[in-house]
Amino acid sequence: MKEIVVVSGKGGVGKTTVAASLAVFLAKTGTKIVAADADVDAPDLLLALGGGRTISSTEIKASEKATIDESKCTECGNCVSACPFGAIVMDNHRPTVVRLMCEGCGVCKVVCPVDAVEVKKAVTGTLKIEDTKYGFPSVTGYLRLGEHNSGYLVASVKNSGRKTAEDLGAKALVVDAAPGIGCPVIASITGASYVIAVTEPTPAAKRDLERLVKVIKHFGVPVGVVINKANLSDDFRGVLEDWVKHELGYQILGEIPIDYEVVKALVKMVPVTEFNPNAEASKILTAIAKRVKDEVLP
Ligand code: SF4
Ligand code: SF4
Repeated sequence: MKEIVVVSGKGGVGKTTVAASLAVFLAKTGTKIVAADADVDAPDLLLALGGGRTISSTEIKASEKATIDESKCTECGNCVSACPFGAIVMDNHRPTVVRLMCEGCGVCKVVCPVDAVEVKKAVTGTLKIEDTKYGFPSVTGYLRLGEHNSGYLVASVKNSGRKTAEDLGAKALVVDAAPGIGCPVIASITGASYVIAVTEPTPAAKRDLERLVKVIKHFGVPVGVVINKANLSDDFRGVLEDWVKHELGYQILGEIPIDYEVVKALVKMVPVTEFNPNAEASKILTAIAKRVKDEVLP
């Protein structure tokens, strides 16, 4: 089973559009796949695929939060002054934990003279497996508001995606990765067979891709680059192409022009390749998907 991970150095460059069109192309051309949305802060792959029916939903506990037993508390205030994150406030002489601010460090438990504090596992997010209308399941991680440790949730998404793929005898897992260069994207790339890096011809996107490439190189995974909104700047497009081909040594899988059919398709929650197969963007996205299929899943 191959893992194809679609990444971008920053959000908003079209990563999900590429992942959705690839997943649908593979499914429609007879490759059994599972999709996974590892962008747990802002998952939108399922939206781009038109939503789905929930098959299973599991709470993931990866963080810890303090709770105070009021029956034991003597209201001494030690925990309020000791909390390094200002996460305990006195409310009517009672210490109250502000859950969104609590980092679970346990200092309050240490300073409490009457053992009134407990630090317990808390729900970080939800892992859902949903059926899509294109005949393949999609695994999504939904990080809870204000929660962190999204790398753990991403790893859970990937593990669940792998297991689902194995159970179904799927040939590929298509992952819409978290953007950026931090823990979630590292967790997204871990175990990848092939990475599709989506960028656009702007200095900001190039700089973010430069940083992302350092992360990808660590894993030694083959990479193909997609330049989205390619006609945003013809001058900078040349700079980007040259850098990708000659300095990075990566192949450019395709260059997608700005096409408002993509926006219309997103509004309708349909991959643009299905919404309007004759749109310029659709033709190039299909060609990219075919190339990836031929090279990664021969
Ligand atoms: S666990 Fe740490 S962050 Fe949370 S309330 Fe206690 S001291 Fe503050
Ligand atoms: S340190 Fe313990 S006893 Fe003192 S206010 Fe906090 S919870 Fe209550």
